Amino acid sequence: MDDYSKGAAYLSGDYMPLDRARIPVTHFAFRRSDVCYDVVGVWDGAFFRLDDHIRRFRASMVKLRMTPPESDDDIRRILHRIVALSGLRRAYVAMDCLRASPPPGAPRSAAFAPSYLSCFAVPWISLADDGQMARGLHVVIPDVQRIAPEAVDPRVKNFHWGDLTAGLFQAHDAGADTAVLADARGMITEGPGFNVFSITGGTIATPRCGALEGITRQSVMDLCAELGLPLELRDIPVAEFRQADEAFVCSTAGGIMPVSRIDGRIMGNDRPGPVSTRLRDRFWQKRAEGWHATPVDYSLA
Ligand code: PLP
Repeated sequence: MDDYSKGAAYLSGDYMPLDRARIPVTHFAFRRSDVCYDVVGVWDGAFFRLDDHIRRFRASMVKLRMTPPESDDDIRRILHRIVALSGLRRAYVAMDCLRASPPPGAPRSAAFAPSYLSCFAVPWISLADDGQMARGLHVVIPDVQRIAPEAVDPRVKNFHWGDLTAGLFQAHDAGADTAVLADARGMITEGPGFNVFSITGGTIATPRCGALEGITRQSVMDLCAELGLPLELRDIPVAEFRQADEAFVCSTAGGIMPVSRIDGRIMGNDRPGPVSTRLRDRFWQKRAEGWHATPVDYSLA
């Protein structure tokens, strides 16, 4: 009897318990971070914005010239089935497209290597724990810059995390929770696993470029429209961000996560600000009401 208690995986056509999913060490996916991916959340038995995630995943694969055999409908069915196999009601569901290696005798080029899908469902993951969520995240803007979008397109969800991981270590060294990286122009971009918003004088702003076009970010933009909150997509200089009235980050892994300190500066009363809290509460209220929800087909187990 297969044990799906840790999660379920799909790898090149086969379903298996999570701890049986393995990839070859020779594959370019591993050796060259030649991967694109997406992550969709399952909350109370339903996917959130499933089609938006699959659409973004397909766009990433096209950009990286990856052509796995599965169609978008196949991917949708695979994701339902792995969640069903795991039995999870709240899950972090990853879909990865990996480049293999060229066949023996072929030139050593990615162009000759096929690509394939690996997907898994594990218990829900949040970037912030309950304590951080309640007090607000402490963030720093590290020295390390976000990799240039002209070099690695951040709109393709990718594994080139060297800059984000270095920033995270620098944040921990400074006693903070996480990092918000700036680009070479001194403009805010994003952080390890999240998009960034600042609020100054009642206006909400998020970077117009240099970041993943996050699905949660889109949800925040939708909420701003619904609540009549002014929102701008524009460059945010580091100096402005440091002095913001409020800030929050957002991700599939955690939803809307308010910030209470930037580079050691205490914002407001050192707790999540009122606008960030309003958006976060509305987000979860709408999620509970079935906003963009696709119920998981648990009969596929
Ligand atoms: N930026 C980066 C670098 C990410 O890895 C993520 C993903 O989780 C995000 C932003 C947020 O995107 P989403 O809201 O689609 O999860």
